[in-house]
Amino acid sequence: MTDERPAISGTSERVLTSWLRDRGEPAYRAKQIRRHVARSQAADWDGLTDLPKALRTDLAEAFRWSAVRPVIEEASADGETRKVLLELHDGHRIESVLMPHLGRARAGGGSLLTPTHERVRRAQRAGARNAVCISTQAGCPMACAFCATGEMGLIRDLTAGEIVDQVRHWQTELISRGERVSHVVYMGMGEPFNNYEATLESVRTLVDPEAFGISPRRITISTCGIVPKIDALAAEGLPINLAVSLHAADDRTRTAIMPVNRKWGVDEVLDASARYVERTKRRVTFEYVLLGGVNDSAETAAALAKQIATRGRTSAYHVNLIPVNPGPGGFTRPPEARMERFAEILREAGIAATVRISKGQDILAGCGQLKVPEGKAASVGA
Ligand code: SAH
Repeated sequence: MTDERPAISGTSERVLTSWLRDRGEPAYRAKQIRRHVARSQAADWDGLTDLPKALRTDLAEAFRWSAVRPVIEEASADGETRKVLLELHDGHRIESVLMPHLGRARAGGGSLLTPTHERVRRAQRAGARNAVCISTQAGCPMACAFCATGEMGLIRDLTAGEIVDQVRHWQTELISRGERVSHVVYMGMGEPFNNYEATLESVRTLVDPEAFGISPRRITISTCGIVPKIDALAAEGLPINLAVSLHAADDRTRTAIMPVNRKWGVDEVLDASARYVERTKRRVTFEYVLLGGVNDSAETAAALAKQIATRGRTSAYHVNLIPVNPGPGGFTRPPEARMERFAEILREAGIAATVRISKGQDILAGCGQLKVPEGKAASVGA
């Protein structure tokens, strides 16, 4: 049996307000309920004891308190990264990752002469950094050659409630120790721009001061380069961050590893990124997975630098070099010196570049490692 009740976190304030009005409830209840959704530790509707009992019963009949049910949680040996397997109402499964650490900028804030204990104290006062990586689809249709999620194919799009409730899963626990989700990255399973409406609706709930109140500047959507949706996002007037999975500087290489490149090539993706910078005045991050012998040569780095530089202000871009995580395709990581050389060539051209190894690989929580066995999922709801 599937549960057809809509999830409360995916229900807009407008819809909730009119539902409440039909029951003769005052309008302020909508805000009260939305605040609870983002901040309450209650396990279900009955935990919201400041709502009349009859209303709680009606709410429970009409809306699901959560759209996701945790199945298994794993913690990385690094002691920080955690991954949860979540089950949806129809038995399909998705994954979400928590990446906590003290805010880097804040921990390092102040003069270099500031003693370490003072910097740590300041960081603690400012609040710990808790970044959550969320999925927008069960599976993914994009079939990038190096990505485990791509091997699943697309199972289905997630609803806005299912996207928001991944954040809520971690938020509920963090709140119990006085912390909260500070950053959200749409870098889990799926292509956010293939599920644009639900993705944007989830962003609106996350940034709503009455709900999660997360600063848009701390939200990042990553896309494999769906050009019309990059333009659509630029027109939303939401100052969130855009990350673009580029992974190559020329069409031949990019098409070989990312089938989507047949539709929108390197030039089109870079032009759309430049338009995004132009319209939003925000920096764009290019993700670039380093695949040994495929896209990691000094010549490629120079070509990439040139491609970016011809689009104007190099300071508007940041290249995030990701040494490939073990996954499909049998790709290998280039030697460290080669990765550093690649970064250096970009920096010499005035483009910020960092090499960042993803955390949590021991629990398959790194970039491109999220994958769930669908056979299991399909049998659960039956
Ligand atoms: N579909 C979106 C969102 C996924 S973000 C996108 O493509 O941007 C996940 C990031 O991890 C993407 O940049 C993806 O290219 C990268 N990735 C996929 N497989 C990887 C692997 N095996 N090692 C390192 N990064 C990988």
